[in-house]
Amino acid sequence: MSPRKTARRALPIVDVYARQILAGAAARASCAKCTHAHCCRIVPVAVLGEAVALVDAFARGGGDLKSLRAQAAADAAFLRDAEDPSYDYMLSGRQCALLDARTNRCRAYAARPITCRVYFVVSPPAECAPDARRVVSALDTRAHALALFETFANATSSAIPSWVAGTLPEMILAAFAFLELDAASFLAWARVERDAWDRVMARIEAHEGDRMAHIAQQDERA
Ligand code: SF4
Ligand code: SF4
Repeated sequence: MSPRKTARRALPIVDVYARQILAGAAARASCAKCTHAHCCRIVPVAVLGEAVALVDAFARGGGDLKSLRAQAAADAAFLRDAEDPSYDYMLSGRQCALLDARTNRCRAYAARPITCRVYFVVSPPAECAPDARRVVSALDTRAHALALFETFANATSSAIPSWVAGTLPEMILAAFAFLELDAASFLAWARVERDAWDRVMARIEAHEGDRMAHIAQQDERA
């Protein structure tokens, strides 16, 4: 089965499982009625297969792949130079390349990455704004995220390398490379790029404490 088809077929599996384990969090969250999409100004992380699914869904929905790639390249370059990639991205006024600026909606919502699926806030939506400088109350769904990543990896690892991971802009670029190159050329390219992906992720993790000062994690089962 082609990588695109494999990634596409993994989405409903993740979707059903996510609905089961995240139903309680979704019911408690402010997100269901929110139209601000402030959270789409926070850079998500993803594995390659998720980015393949996103690019595939975006293309099937008639999205402009050239502009998606151009924004992903600009965002990836920004992240590589940023001291605190996640926070600097948010404060720079950037937004996810998949977000439709007119409607404030994700242009590939059904294929959104797991990190987007598990982010639930119980504080007022206005407090999520980057310039609100308020402590946001988010539900602690990290265990669910890991379970969903494992489910996705199990469903896709036969066709898509599961070790390729990083920020979403970098993974969108990796998805384009993966879909264009032969397997050996992609792996050679990815082994070179991996250092840069890991450096950005290491800086995000190094600033985790700063970010947690703005996010009060609540027990999602409470
Ligand atoms: S995280 Fe905040 S901005 Fe995003 S959907 Fe939920 S309430 Fe809205
Ligand atoms: S992929 Fe979609 S849901 Fe996730 S940050 Fe981007 S626009 Fe928002």
